[in-house]
Amino acid sequence: MSEFFGDGDGAASLARAYERARDYLEKVDDLSLKLTTTQADIRARLGGPLNEEAQSSVEIVDALADAAEGAIAPTVGGRFFAYVIGGSYPVGMAADWLNVAWDDTPGTPLVTPFGHAVEAIVAQWVLDLLDLPRDASLGVTTGATMANFVGIAAGRHAVLKRIGWDVEADGPIGAPPITVIVGEEAHPTLLSALRFAGLGAKRNICVAVDDNGAMRADAFEEALANVDGPILVCAQSGNINSGAQDPFEKIAPLCRDAGAWLHVDGAFGLWARAAPDLAGSVAGVELADSWSTDAHKWLNTPYDAGFAIVRDAEAHVGAMAARASYLPQAEGARDCSHFVPELSRRGRATPIYATLRAIGRKGVSETVSRCCAHARKMRDLLTSRAGVECLNDVVLNQAAFVFHPDDDAASSVEAANAFTKDVVARVMETGVCWVQTSEWRGRTIMRFSVCNRSTTDEDIQRSADAILSAYEEARRALAEAEA
Ligand SMILES: *Cc1c(COP(=O)(O)O)cnc(C)c1O
Repeated sequence: MSEFFGDGDGAASLARAYERARDYLEKVDDLSLKLTTTQADIRARLGGPLNEEAQSSVEIVDALADAAEGAIAPTVGGRFFAYVIGGSYPVGMAADWLNVAWDDTPGTPLVTPFGHAVEAIVAQWVLDLLDLPRDASLGVTTGATMANFVGIAAGRHAVLKRIGWDVEADGPIGAPPITVIVGEEAHPTLLSALRFAGLGAKRNICVAVDDNGAMRADAFEEALANVDGPILVCAQSGNINSGAQDPFEKIAPLCRDAGAWLHVDGAFGLWARAAPDLAGSVAGVELADSWSTDAHKWLNTPYDAGFAIVRDAEAHVGAMAARASYLPQAEGARDCSHFVPELSRRGRATPIYATLRAIGRKGVSETVSRCCAHARKMRDLLTSRAGVECLNDVVLNQAAFVFHPDDDAASSVEAANAFTKDVVARVMETGVCWVQTSEWRGRTIMRFSVCNRSTTDEDIQRSADAILSAYEEARRALAEAEA
């Protein structure tokens, strides 16, 4: 036995963790989506002063698994629809466990050629799946927020370099100002990424969107015509409420003509590229300069996993690479740390590799198509009841519902907003599925998102039944209150 395990029960704790994980995953479909445990409960279960002496590893694993019960929404299961949160595949988890066992940290290629090589393989597969330029460079980030930051930093590098400013050396202060153009419904983390890059969240030109939340090409053209100097455009593939795709075929050539860098936040929407029935809706996105997307959402890999993709590798590496004499470069070898902000990090590509091998190209495209079909099915089931309205055109996996207190939807916006909140609260009480309210286009909506590969037709039917029952109940309660 290696020194690693020492004389404690460390080895047994690994086996115990496997048992507890398996038990959890075997019953995950039967778990209530209504959380019963508060943070205070968990602190009471696990807190107290740190013990002076060593404690049993098996007991620690059991204590953690017991304390987590009812305190983590079963998002691995098929009826969590509130946010764009995917599930996982067993093989992705398995690969992640190996990753941790190996302590693989692809920071410098001399120490761990493995993680770097796996990342290079995954990079080619992902460029292929997304049908993006095969010679683009790709970094595996913690998620789309960081991928947005990487794309924006690469853009900042490139547009300032063209006018002779070295932003990595001299910073953005005092540089010729970059005009940033974003869509009115950009994701909040895109604005965070702009903040991180020193470009500010509020000094952007905001382009109006159409009824489905996609950037209006005419408004974009007008905005672009009125600026000069370095320009960074941030478009979106997948509006968080509607799933809408910005009109890339129109805006990308305009960006080229203006010498603007086009970054695309495609956290989940970019995966439409992988499904033949949806790829047409994202045509032209391949003309952008940088793209961000997630693996831990629609690819259903474990966290943390996203991709920062940049057409111009020089701009990508120029913005990200840290160099030091104690970090020798391996000639001709990939160095993962050149494409993301971190040096020490997980071997993030390994669980993605395992997941992609396990499901194949077909698995990716079928998951994306099926989730979208589920969203359309939910729209049909709910709107078959008078008084339930779907506000968006369900072009992807997102649907936005409004519940009216009357059949003919004649009540005020305020009344519908309050009523929608009431219906959602009642759905949550059932524990059958998890939905959430959001604000979109001045309305309170029930946002419905499907991106878990585990969601079945039965999950959709059961959830629709629960939502419609909650709606009837809310109608009755209102009638009683008014009587
Ligand atoms: C989820 C999401 C993000 C942020 O991604 P993380 O992986 O959570 O960092 C950015 N943009 C859009 C459109 C998203 O849906």
